[in-house]
Amino acid sequence: MDQCIFCKIINKEIPKEFDYESDHIVVFPDINPSADVHLLIVPKKHISGMGQLGREHGDLLIEVYEVVNKLVLENNLREDLYRVVVNGGKAQHIPHLHFHLLGGQWKKYV
Ligand code: AMP
Ligand code: ZN
Repeated sequence: MDQCIFCKIINKEIPKEFDYESDHIVVFPDINPSADVHLLIVPKKHISGMGQLGREHGDLLIEVYEVVNKLVLENNLREDLYRVVVNGGKAQHIPHLHFHLLGGQWKKYV
């Protein structure tokens, strides 16, 4: 998608340091963090949102949660408060599917 900011980040048109990268997923910190740890887990494929997910994305979703569990361990969140959020509808501001990993103290709901 030409205008999608997350596609530009994934395609390295916008420089961004990734916490993690695989063939299917990138992870980078949210630019406006709502928690001590606020990472975005972003599939490389442009999927607009949850509504566009189907059974064909099963392997991708499993990989997302494998990456989440890895990030939880790496950020020492296992014994802390953490959650994974996917926004939709008017709560979703970037129309490219992404998962927020929020850990520690958070300021507000994203
Ligand atoms: P959502 O409302 O679920 O679509 O969340 C989009 C998130 O992307 C927000 O928490 C923003 O702070 C974050 N965001 C927007 N632009 C960037 C960027 N260039 N780098 C990192 N995070 C971003
Ligand atoms: Zn995109």
